[in-house]
Parts: sequence; C-alpha cells; structure tokens
Amino acid sequence: MKTNINLACADSKGRLYEYPHLAAVGRTGEIIKPLTKKELVPLPAGSSLTMLPRRAALGVDKQGQLRSARGLPYVKGPLYAVAALLPMGYARTYLPAAKGSPGAAPLPLFGYTAVCFCEGELYAAAMRVEPDNTTWDPQRYNTPELKERVLNICSRSPENRILEHLAVCALEYGCFTAQNIFYRRWEGGVPVSPACNARCLGCISKQVSQCCPSPQERISFIPSVREIVDIAVPHLAEAEDGIISFGQGCEGEPTLMADLLMRAVSTVRNQTDCGVININTNGSRPDVIQRLARAGLNSIRVSLISPLPAIFNAYVRPRAYSLKQLKETLHVAMEEGLTVSLNYLIFPGVSDREEEVEAMVEFLCRQPVHLVQLRNLNIDPDVYLKSIPLRRGRLLGIRGLCARLKAEFPHMILGSFTHYQ
Ligand code: SF4
Repeated sequence: MKTNINLACADSKGRLYEYPHLAAVGRTGEIIKPLTKKELVPLPAGSSLTMLPRRAALGVDKQGQLRSARGLPYVKGPLYAVAALLPMGYARTYLPAAKGSPGAAPLPLFGYTAVCFCEGELYAAAMRVEPDNTTWDPQRYNTPELKERVLNICSRSPENRILEHLAVCALEYGCFTAQNIFYRRWEGGVPVSPACNARCLGCISKQVSQCCPSPQERISFIPSVREIVDIAVPHLAEAEDGIISFGQGCEGEPTLMADLLMRAVSTVRNQTDCGVININTNGSRPDVIQRLARAGLNSIRVSLISPLPAIFNAYVRPRAYSLKQLKETLHVAMEEGLTVSLNYLIFPGVSDREEEVEAMVEFLCRQPVHLVQLRNLNIDPDVYLKSIPLRRGRLLGIRGLCARLKAEFPHMILGSFTHYQ
C-alpha cells in the first residue's frame, strides 16, 4: 500500500499545514527528488521547525511534475516552505526544496533539513548518528533554575569577563556548552580568542562575508590566565564527565592565543588532573598543538568542510595556511597521544559526491582519527552552492557516505559530538 508522504508548508504567520495535493520532495545539491519512507525518521525530539521566508514550498503532483504549493481553502495568502533544525545526534540527508522569490534575503546560519508529513505525522530526512545524545538533549538545557545558577556563579567572580560573556551566551543565545559551565557538568566552553586566521563563509561568530547576520557576538577581549583557570579548575574537578573546550562558536581561532593557552593549560594541570581539556580548532597551527599537548591538553577537534582543496579554500578562505597545515595538525595530535576528532561539516549534494567521498577515504587513510563528528553545515543552501566550485560525479547520499566510512574504518567512531574519555 502506497504511503502518503505529503508536503509540509506554512502560512505567513508560520502556522504549519499538511499539503495533501503534492508529495514531499528533498534537495541534494541542485537535485530535487521525491522523498521515500526509508529516507525518513520521525521528527526527533528537540527539533525545531522554521518557515523559510519568501520561499515557496515545492512538491510533486500526481503526474510527477514539480510544483509550488498554491493555496489551501482554509488559509489566507501564500504558502511558504518549512525546514527542520535537528538536535545533536542526527545527520540530515536532504535539504528542504523551496523556490525563492527574486531578491529574497539569504537565510540565517542554520542547518536546514527537509521535513514532511507521513501518515499525518511529522518526519525529517535524516539519520541518527549518535546512539545516545543525553548530554546534548535539548530538554536538559534552558531549565528554570539556569538563570539563578548563572547569577550565582557570576556573583562569586564579578571580575571574570569570560563568565560575564558566557552569561550572555547561556541566557540569550541558549548555548549548551556555555550553560554547562553554570550547570557544572559535561562539556563546558571557555572562549579565549577574538581573532581568526580564516574567513569561513558560515562563520557563526563573525560574518565578514556579510552573507547574513552572525547569530552570536564574538568575544571582544583577550582573557587573562587567571580568568581561564578560575573557570576551568572547578569545572574539571567537580563536573560529571567534565570537559573544558577552547574554540567555541563565539570566538575566533584559539591557537592564535598560543602563549596564553600554554600558561593556562599548564596552570590548570598543576591544580587538577581531573577531566578532559579539549580544543576545537581550524587546524592551522600544528606547532601550537604540539606545545599544548605537552602542557596537558587531552583532546582535539579539527573542523573540515572538505578534503578537496578547491572547496576548502572557497569556503574557509584561510589566511597564511592551507589543508597542508590542517593535515599536519592531525598527525601531530596523533603522535602526541591526544584523542583526535574531525568536525566534518556535511552538506547533501557536496559531501556525498563520489569524488568527495573518495577524497575523504584517502584523507582518513593518511590522517587517521578516533572520531568523525558529522555536523550539519549551518548555512543558506543557495549561498553555499553558489560560493563553491561546480561539482560533478555521482551522488552516494549521506547514508552512502556513512556506510562507506564505516566499511573503510571499522574502528573509527562516527558520531556527532566530543565524547568524554
Ligand atoms: S575558523 Fe572558526 S572562527 Fe574562524 S572564520 Fe572559521 S568558523 Fe569563524
């Protein structure tokens, strides 16, 4: 029996509707195709839905023709496309299919995912990549007692500018790693760098490309060793599965603060050997990673948009470094005994193209890592696709990409976030 997989759309007020006249479709790169049940999962708990302004919802009619959702008798005005924003632990397999009106502004920096109705229930084009995302479960965050915790910890260290900055991240931006500093648990973020040596198109802390507003304010000062240590030591000593992470979404590149980090990490490790000290980095400074590893750093996560130089350079627009330094950073990190993760920013129609997958397999053969975190790239799909070189070759699908990586690297973890080890 044929399963009804119908289009989801919204009116100008963002009210959601099932559109029974068109079957739902998904987009991968420039290709739009009907969604099938095996490509869908029930909309994960903790997902949010967003209407795509000035973008018509697309679906296919009974003749297989691609059409925009025209109207519904009980809805005034045009119907717009909608997308899901998935919680940690899920990799999207299709983008939403939408037709933008001329002059429509670029969408904000989020990981837009195709969403539809299946037998009347909401489903998303996604796959689960983390068996357990308890520590990133949205229901464990933004809880009623958070504000009091923030005020309490900040009042104990009124001169600590990082805490003041993290209070805004926790309460206004809803950042999970900032909140964990105040919940005193799991992975807590400690931003240290106002500067960066890259200009990523989808940078969430500073939009030099003006593609769209950056969702958070980048830290504007260089903290002191004391400010860092006063946050890190109690977190590592007291938190459940405590991780301190430098290199947050609200800062630039932490390795540019090499001497500061060296002194901070050594001081922290002189005071406690509990927990994990992690750094999220763009991989531009292998020399700094070697020094930090010898000072007490435990793990590293290196961000990678693509192993293909043309796409890497077009997206990252690095200053005075290239994929060469990034690869060297992974080698140094392994040699120094760090736990090594790759933060692979995936995008349907780019990351699952045969040429990209082959290059990724070769990349991981030459630069092995313990964990590949599959992260949905947060950017307006049209802005991204227009900014990177044209791509050719067969599409394997995000599921095909994962199956290939699992087959080639059975001992490597495919996940979604930094694990406590
Ligand atoms: S490396 Fe990070 S901080 Fe620097 S531009 Fe890219 S995303 Fe932004």
